Amino acid sequence: MAFDYDVAIIGAGASGSYAATVFAKCNNKTVVLIDSNDRIGKKLSLTGNGQGNVSNEKVSASSYFSLDSKEDLDRVASLVNEFNPSLLSTVCLADERGRIYPGSKQASSITDIFRKTIEGKVTLKLGSKVVRLSPGYNLQLDSGEKISAEFVILACGGAAQPRLGSDGSGHDLAKALGHSVTKLYPSLVQLTTETDKIRGLKGKRLEAELSLIDDNDSKEPLARSSGEIIFQDYGITGDAVFDLSPHFAGKKSATISINFLYPFRFDFGAVKKVLEERDLSLEDKREIFTGILPNQVGRKVVEECLNDYSVDKVIQKARSFDLKVTGSLGFDRAQVTRGGIRLNEVSDNLESRLSKKLFITGEMLDIDGPCGGYNLHWAFSSALRAAKAIINYGKNR
Ligand SMILES: Cc1cc2nc3c(=O)[nH]c(=O)nc-3n(C[C@H](O)[C@H](O)[C@H](O)COP(=O)(O)OP(=O)(O)OC[C@H]3O[C@@H](n4cnc5c(N)ncnc54)[C@H](O)[C@@H]3O)c2cc1C
Repeated sequence: MAFDYDVAIIGAGASGSYAATVFAKCNNKTVVLIDSNDRIGKKLSLTGNGQGNVSNEKVSASSYFSLDSKEDLDRVASLVNEFNPSLLSTVCLADERGRIYPGSKQASSITDIFRKTIEGKVTLKLGSKVVRLSPGYNLQLDSGEKISAEFVILACGGAAQPRLGSDGSGHDLAKALGHSVTKLYPSLVQLTTETDKIRGLKGKRLEAELSLIDDNDSKEPLARSSGEIIFQDYGITGDAVFDLSPHFAGKKSATISINFLYPFRFDFGAVKKVLEERDLSLEDKREIFTGILPNQVGRKVVEECLNDYSVDKVIQKARSFDLKVTGSLGFDRAQVTRGGIRLNEVSDNLESRLSKKLFITGEMLDIDGPCGGYNLHWAFSSALRAAKAIINYGKNR
């Protein structure tokens, strides 16, 4: 049977565009890359605050999470070893925390490289949403146009930030071919909290350690993180909050305990000495943390224990300032989706076990990583594996 194209890639985000570059370099397949946006890599160009945190020095299979079985996660996530940032055809640099960026520190430069690599080698259909995918494969676009292809890569992303194109319609295309999708949760997202305790702190940033405690089972924290936190009028954000947010998925009620004294953990004695000296002379105890914590934060901590004040009590409160979590800012603001197409429905090469010659990559699958370049690394690794599998299809059978 004659197809319009050997391969149709649905979704020109991080994963789909990168897969297109792998085919363009190999140059022996006819490929069409389709996206509902009017340009490729719309989300990719905004990643890492515009700087493009494309990978991480510490990436490994164990960095990833799935709502599905651990066995399937280990099997699928092991393919992250296949990709490294030098394959992006530029020179990348790592920062002190192991986060890897293009030397330009411009996410859009990665999109530019992808666009130039595929120019003239891959057919682009932009501003075109795929509304139907049926075996064969036959694709129908929202314009009414029909396209046939021998292989399909579904790279439609998850449900995070639908305004950038990933509106969940890719999951519907997969479901029509028999796939199932786990529950979906917003991840790497700002958390909303009770606001009375943090009134007036909006915009304050500081380093802290956070523990997330399940209110129904407070024995062990669900997770801990450390790094920057930023107070907002709705709650808190910042890297440390993003790192905790996946653990709130599916929880009804939780508390974040903030340790403001975490940065002093290597010389806590010096802090205690200053506080004890000040306690003897200070009239307004709310000033006791001056120069140690931002003034407004220090005052909030002391205000929480004015009824039962002592140096030990304020230290305890500064180490464990509790805020009830009320929710998150949801998919509209989340960076990634927790959950997706079940991993037991794809092979090691990410080929569908339900529909031959259909491959599924990137955030569409039930696999996500923490903040720091892990999710783009997954989008690229999975694209590389699927594209290579298509290029070599049938060779080892
Ligand atoms: C603001 C922000 C910052 C981020 N920063 C980082 C970072 O620094 N590092 C990191 O590792 N991760 C980061 N992420 C996460 C990362 O961007 C995603 O995990 C990654 O882009 C997922 O790649 P993907 O190709 O699977 O999906 P996407 O990049 O979302 O691409 C999916 C594409 O499919 C298209 N599409 C969907 N349905 C259809 C359809 N039916 N027909 C046609 N086209 C369709 C969409 O328009 C979209 O272009 C960030 C995310 C956000 C939102």
